[in-house]
Amino acid sequence: MPTKFCTRLIMVEINEQDNTEKKGLNFVEQIVADDLKDGKNGGRLNTRFPPEPNGYLHIGHAKAICMDFGVAEKFGGTCNLRFDDTNPVKEDVEYVDAIREDIHWLGFDWGDREYYASDYFPQLYDLAIRLIKEGKAYVDDQTSEQIAAQKGTPTTPGVNSPFRDRSVEENLDLFQRMNAGEFEEGSRVLRAKIDMANSNMHFRDPIMYRIIKHPHHRTGTTWKVYPMYDFAHGQSDYFEGVTHSICTLEFVPHRPLYDYFVRELADDTYCPRQIEFNRLNLTYTVMSKRKLLQLVKEGLVAGWDDPRMPTISGMRRRGFTPAAIRNFIERIGYTKYEALNSVSLLEYAVREDLNAHATRAMAVINPVKVVITNYPEGQVETVEMDNNPEEPESGTHQMPFSREIFIERDDFMENPPKKFFRLAPGAEVRLKGAYIIKCDEVVKDAEGNITELRCSYDPDSRSGMPGASRKVKGTLHWVSAEHAVDATVRLYDRLFNVENPAAETDRDFREMLNPDSLKVVEGVKVEPFIAENASKGKKFQFQRIGYFTPDYDSTPEHLIFNRTIALKDSWEKEQKK
Ligand code: ATP
Ligand code: MG
Repeated sequence: MPTKFCTRLIMVEINEQDNTEKKGLNFVEQIVADDLKDGKNGGRLNTRFPPEPNGYLHIGHAKAICMDFGVAEKFGGTCNLRFDDTNPVKEDVEYVDAIREDIHWLGFDWGDREYYASDYFPQLYDLAIRLIKEGKAYVDDQTSEQIAAQKGTPTTPGVNSPFRDRSVEENLDLFQRMNAGEFEEGSRVLRAKIDMANSNMHFRDPIMYRIIKHPHHRTGTTWKVYPMYDFAHGQSDYFEGVTHSICTLEFVPHRPLYDYFVRELADDTYCPRQIEFNRLNLTYTVMSKRKLLQLVKEGLVAGWDDPRMPTISGMRRRGFTPAAIRNFIERIGYTKYEALNSVSLLEYAVREDLNAHATRAMAVINPVKVVITNYPEGQVETVEMDNNPEEPESGTHQMPFSREIFIERDDFMENPPKKFFRLAPGAEVRLKGAYIIKCDEVVKDAEGNITELRCSYDPDSRSGMPGASRKVKGTLHWVSAEHAVDATVRLYDRLFNVENPAAETDRDFREMLNPDSLKVVEGVKVEPFIAENASKGKKFQFQRIGYFTPDYDSTPEHLIFNRTIALKDSWEKEQKK
């Protein structure tokens, strides 16, 4: 079942890509191009990315960022960064700083156009006062439960609040006293007086303001009333000069209300418009900030930037690159249909970018010692290794070779099956970049564990020597035992073990966490070049193993590497079995 599902998903994704390529522009870009051609808004293009600073950004936000900044870039417009900070209870400067860092890292810049919805609190308040005076808003003394109970359903009209016909004077007085802090949270709200029978539920006298007494991270205790999203967003767009307010599909039913409030301000020369595209949803993870916050708060992950998290900061720490993320987003494209995107496609993009740019080096994750009995004791020679055959200008580095080396324990089998082309008693393999060796003897401890392999080498088989071209079936990675540096690696796997945790509504999402999402391996042996170059952000390919990057916790005394991704997609293979 999962395989079939995945196949369908990938087909959808590829079709979307084809469409995008054929048309050249995606549907949002097409709308923008048409508006510009028609000279709307004086020919101006201004988008905005509007995160609420109540959590770290995730890969879904990256899709919105690529759209908002990307379309502005493409058509010579500008994109604002606007923090949608209308709920002081959940918001914090820590998140503001993290959001800024993540957008820059993805490769976008808002210049001096950094704004806050809270910058517009005075104008929004003035507009609310005006609407009250015009009989378009009223203070409702009911509880949120009572208000919800009167809302009706999409097919049955709602019921008017008993406070709906209050006088303008009373409404003005109560609203001002709400903001002066005279009333308790939840005791009163300001509502727009629109239409309790409207087929669009958002028009049934939506709440404009609620009382919150928690101090705000920017405006302190100045305000005791805070605008709701629907009363803040469109107007903030207007105050800022935003022309195209691009958001995700769940806002489609809000659009008439967006237009309703914006029309109170706009005129023929300038009016912002909302356009919606499909969200990014990824398999084997969750994208809700509330759930991600829960994982962090409950210590189920190491923090917002835990490399297993779908956050931008987690992906950065894990070793994903901005180019890989942007390529992935470009491939899945923008449509009007909700989809679940396969994480394999993201991983493919990561491998593709790292394959092109990561530095090749040797590390042995699960080492077993090999003693080359006919190699002179104390002798050391160096072999030259390409840093990246895909990038010839990246040069080479030297790697020491000596009598004792480490190879991967899995690369030896005492009783190998037929097609095992690695090391076995009496078999020959090439040590990558160096000699051919043959296994002569297996040394074991009292419990029967292999402690050492005794081999002999063919001195004629190294590159540049007459026997260099001699073919053997297997080539192994290795490191010189005397020169190897110890390291720890953290092997990451998917955070959840079900494809779409959000769809399993009858289960606690924490039950679906993959218990094997992190394995820590100590005693890994890395070549000295890796230790010397293990600076933050450096990308390595440990040959035949995968892509790795130094973790933030890594120090020269204790090297720690995160596995960004294995070389091959073993997960997909598992599923096809
Ligand atoms: P919440 O509103 O529950 O806090 P949110 O994910 O909507 O969470 P915002 O900070 O409001 O968070 O999002 C900022 C912008 O990012 C919005 O324009 C939103 O549409 C967009 N966005 C959020 N999640 C996704 C996603 N999964 N795919 C694409 N865009 C997204
Ligand atoms: Mg939101």
